[in-house]
Amino acid sequence: MTVSNCTKCDGTVFEAAELTIEGVDRVLLAIHCAGCGGVVSVVEKRDIASMIHQQNRGLIFVGQQFGMKLGLDTE
Ligand SMILES: [Zn+2]
Repeated sequence: MTVSNCTKCDGTVFEAAELTIEGVDRVLLAIHCAGCGGVVSVVEKRDIASMIHQQNRGLIFVGQQFGMKLGLDTE
């Protein structure tokens, strides 16, 4: 198995921390080397489960408007 390493210090342990970028209103995570702090990637911080539950609540509401009972997970 290949082990990912930092291109700056050759470290192999990484951490994620919220990143603020001026003018960007989404919550981002910087994936950085735990040893030197060199950023190796930036990803969006999303809670996919909460997004799906919110979407399911919307679908349930729409279904109710048409007299349908949808058995979707909302929690
Ligand atoms: Zn490093």
